Amino acid sequence: MRASRVSGIMRLTYPNPLCRIGFIVKMYKFKLKPSPKIENIFNNWLDVCRELYNAALQERRDAYKINGTSINYHAQAAQLPEIKALRPDVARVNAQVLQDCLRKLGKAFDAFFRRVKAGEKPGYPRFKSRNRFNSFTFPQAKGAFSIKGDKLHLSKIGKVKILQHRPIEGEIKTCTIIKQADGWFACFAVEENQSRWFPKTGRVAGVDLNVSNFATLSTGEVIDNPRYLKEAERDLKIAQRKVSKKKKGGKNRKKAVALLAKKHLKVANQRKDFHHKLSLQLIREFDTTIFEDLNIKGLLKNHHLAKAISDVAWGSFLSIHFGKAESAGREMLKVAPHFTTQECSRCGNRVKMSLAIREYRCIVCGLVLPRDHNSALTVKGRAFPAARVKDTSPDDPRTYRATDPEAVCL
Ligand SMILES: [Zn+2]
Repeated sequence: MRASRVSGIMRLTYPNPLCRIGFIVKMYKFKLKPSPKIENIFNNWLDVCRELYNAALQERRDAYKINGTSINYHAQAAQLPEIKALRPDVARVNAQVLQDCLRKLGKAFDAFFRRVKAGEKPGYPRFKSRNRFNSFTFPQAKGAFSIKGDKLHLSKIGKVKILQHRPIEGEIKTCTIIKQADGWFACFAVEENQSRWFPKTGRVAGVDLNVSNFATLSTGEVIDNPRYLKEAERDLKIAQRKVSKKKKGGKNRKKAVALLAKKHLKVANQRKDFHHKLSLQLIREFDTTIFEDLNIKGLLKNHHLAKAISDVAWGSFLSIHFGKAESAGREMLKVAPHFTTQECSRCGNRVKMSLAIREYRCIVCGLVLPRDHNSALTVKGRAFPAARVKDTSPDDPRTYRATDPEAVCL
């Protein structure tokens, strides 16, 4: 992510390393139906890759601790032939898959050092347990993998049945085999020359992300979490309770845990789906969307809000939305988040408000608006101060209400 500050407003562009200009990278995920023999190979490869990842991490740690030096990807990849000569199980894994593991570790270190340099306090790259290492990647299509009919051919593994529910359009770049609670999947990164550019609408929206619903727009529109998502979340709570009732280490607990993992996945998928749909709606309707530059990690430290915030998953929504906005040629802005709930969107006066008060009343200019609507207007006003002066002149003695069509014409 690159960000540049223009008069206090952050403009975001997201260069995708996989992506050439004018191309977008799409992910296609299909279920696999491996035979027991193939499943065994998948599990073996996961073990080998995890062991390699952890050993390479250990080597980097030791080199740094003992000699104060750092080892890069190339130095580690150069050792692979030697390791393969000693370990037949490693030699059985496709060479590019092994290199990809080392590259992933390299990326983890790059990200770590980048954050240290930026003055943050990131965690040191961690060793991965079985639960945390669930995929391996063929980084190139050439000769390594191909789809023929309903079979996925994988180099050094063989044929696997694939349930390809939609055709792949574009050039396949990578193939990742993923182990999930509900089975095995193949995920393909595909480069597609189809940047969709939407026609200009001339409309701008400030967006207030809040805990009581999902978001409120500066147009006054309230976007609530969809009902199916609420139902799924209730379901999740019941499954969670079942796990805690079962005896630790027992067979029934194992079953309950597997069920819970499956339900978690379902909620995650439904939430993602909702985020994609909402993002598309915003992109269709507005040329520019403006958000508060929220420090989500900081907010999560507030225990009163943490649960609600991680439930609505703003971080995930924002990253989906940025990606979509970029490939659709739309603008996405972030503004300073301070006092957006307290500040009057019309005259800029600040009133202290507790979370319980749902209506904003300005004692200076008489503005009355639902609290979140006022915040969304303030967010918009920070990016476009000229619009604020014009649209919500403090000289105008009128009191706006959300139900008033003129109040929402900003
Ligand atoms: Zn006011």
